Amino acid sequence: MKVAIASGKGGTGKTTVAVNLALSLGGVHLLDCDVEEPNCNLFLGLELEKLEYVTCQVPEIDPEKCTLCGKCADFCRYNALAALPSRVLVFPALCHGCGGCGLVCTEGAVREKPGILGILESARSDSSLEFSRGVLNVGEAAATPLIRALQRHIDNSRPAIIDSPPGVACPVLAVIGAADYCVLVTESTPFGFHDFRLALEAVKALKVPFGVVLNRDGLGDSRVEEFCGAKGIPILLRIPDDRRIAQLYSEGIPFVEEMPEWKEKFAGMFSAIRAIMESGEGTE
Ligand code: SF4
Ligand code: SF4
Repeated sequence: MKVAIASGKGGTGKTTVAVNLALSLGGVHLLDCDVEEPNCNLFLGLELEKLEYVTCQVPEIDPEKCTLCGKCADFCRYNALAALPSRVLVFPALCHGCGGCGLVCTEGAVREKPGILGILESARSDSSLEFSRGVLNVGEAAATPLIRALQRHIDNSRPAIIDSPPGVACPVLAVIGAADYCVLVTESTPFGFHDFRLALEAVKALKVPFGVVLNRDGLGDSRVEEFCGAKGIPILLRIPDDRRIAQLYSEGIPFVEEMPEWKEKFAGMFSAIRAIMESGEGTE
């Protein structure tokens, strides 16, 4: 079972939920797919080993063959090519490796060469937690190919808990779309509610069953709770706005390690997810 932990915006507690859930269950595979800012290991402190470098094919223009027609730059939706009067400029960090520029070039002037997107790393903890993460090179825009490469390392013999990137762009959709269930982490504040609704639309469009974790419960108002109640969306867990939890977070300590009663609550949440999936409910 693959459970994605997502949120409409950063800073809502997505990584906190993913790490504490994984530690509470033990024996799972935790994947940090937030490749632009992989923070899970700040809380785990594991010695990581390289799995592989991930590359994507980026274009190289042959000036001998190029007629400067500009078709390749017109085609590229990622602005990775600029056709100047004297040459075509390539911006490898913006290239998504789709290969389209090579297809539209009728002169055969586009060659491909591998560019390094980032690295995949993994580790195993004493408590048999398996952990893997992707780290996107600074300045690279193409997070999705790195995420897809990391997903190919999912250990299917155990449950996978996947910390997704924040927001609702392509990298998030790649994570949620490949999951069996999505936990949306939010706060009941005006900003939190706004971004939660964006994330909700994305999850519904992907037809992935979902539930909600209310983080910093008690802060803000009851708008998320009322909305979920009206729509029949399950609230799986409430994590209170608690000084001790905040302090442990600031020290890089997963709060289930110091407040073990929470392990049971996270394990209960996972059982509830299993029950929802077995019943075939969970989507509107
Ligand atoms: S499509 Fe081919 S010929 Fe035209 S500008 Fe691009 S590389 Fe040059
Ligand atoms: S491979 Fe695709 S993304 Fe990269 S430069 Fe060519 S058209 Fe743009």
